[in-house]
Amino acid sequence: MTVAAVRIPPLVDHHCHGVARSALSDEAFEAFLTESDAPAAPGTSFFDTQLGFAVRRWCGPLLGLAPHCAPGDYLERRRELGPAESAGRLLGACGIADFLVDTGLTGDLTSPGELAAAGGGAAWHEIVRLEHLAEGAADAAGSLYGFLDSLAASVRESARTAAGFKSVAGYRHGLDLDPARPGSGEVRAAADRWLAGRTAGERLADPVLLRHLLWSAADTGLPLQFHTGFGDPDLRLHRCDPLLLTDFVKAVRPTGCTVVLLHGYPYHRNAGYLAAVFPHVYADVGLSLSHTGARAEAVLAEMLELTPFGKLLFSTDAYGLPELYVVGAELFRRALARLLAGWVGEGAWAAGDAERVAAMVAADNARRVYRL
Ligand SMILES: [Zn+2]
Repeated sequence: MTVAAVRIPPLVDHHCHGVARSALSDEAFEAFLTESDAPAAPGTSFFDTQLGFAVRRWCGPLLGLAPHCAPGDYLERRRELGPAESAGRLLGACGIADFLVDTGLTGDLTSPGELAAAGGGAAWHEIVRLEHLAEGAADAAGSLYGFLDSLAASVRESARTAAGFKSVAGYRHGLDLDPARPGSGEVRAAADRWLAGRTAGERLADPVLLRHLLWSAADTGLPLQFHTGFGDPDLRLHRCDPLLLTDFVKAVRPTGCTVVLLHGYPYHRNAGYLAAVFPHVYADVGLSLSHTGARAEAVLAEMLELTPFGKLLFSTDAYGLPELYVVGAELFRRALARLLAGWVGEGAWAAGDAERVAAMVAADNARRVYRL
């Protein structure tokens, strides 16, 4: 793929999710265009956002419509084509060679294999969500010791096939956790408390057990992704600043664990700082670019201020809509190509360095970090 003068290879999407298998109502489609968990304010639409504009711009033509087509026309065309045909056209055009799929979201979503097949036979790898493992182990466990043993076994088992783990501790508690590894007595007491008061399916929010999960994952040697920065209003944004992980990052370093800071916005520069000063920390561009749309270039430029070029990874964080893969990939490629071509044009960068950095961020860094 070439935009301006910089060649960008097929992408490795190191953080993404399945897309909806069945047809969506207009309201359900629009709900995927926002991190809000409520309908748009009366008299407004989530199509009237940077992300909504980007969907009309980049996805309309892939479904046989004009760029910038009206939302109503777009939704009607999608209904005509059906979910499978729409997904095939959109995923087939997004230029992603490898999908690293976080399988921790529930709902009628495509499996990683189905997603990659719709993407024209791309490769796929699984990222296992830690809290999901713990909730599954709690649902299945007959006793306290059964729970901790089966949790340890599922972390071990997942590590055999997964490309990495992901934590949503930022959502469940906030990143302002005690950075230290919890002692075994502390973990047993916390598990006892949690299981005693728990009904089946209940989410894990206990800070000691969240820390236990982080340290268990760190011990496997696989990369550990963290949700940081913005997301739906389940989280408290000020408690998702990646700088809150600074002491954990220092504490976990001797295990050899690689820490990957996802999303980040509006703290993406803070993530870049951590990646700059700690060899085992990496930062991600995903979600920040999709939601900032025509401003993606400015946000990516901020990430490229301090983040070492070998420490920045592409992702879409697409979820539910195949459109979000197209938009995430397109905005990234265009923003990166324009930035790098600008720096080459003004003589600040050599053309060969620009191509090398483009390949690193688009794919090579992720291949190295996740050992693909
Ligand atoms: Zn995500």
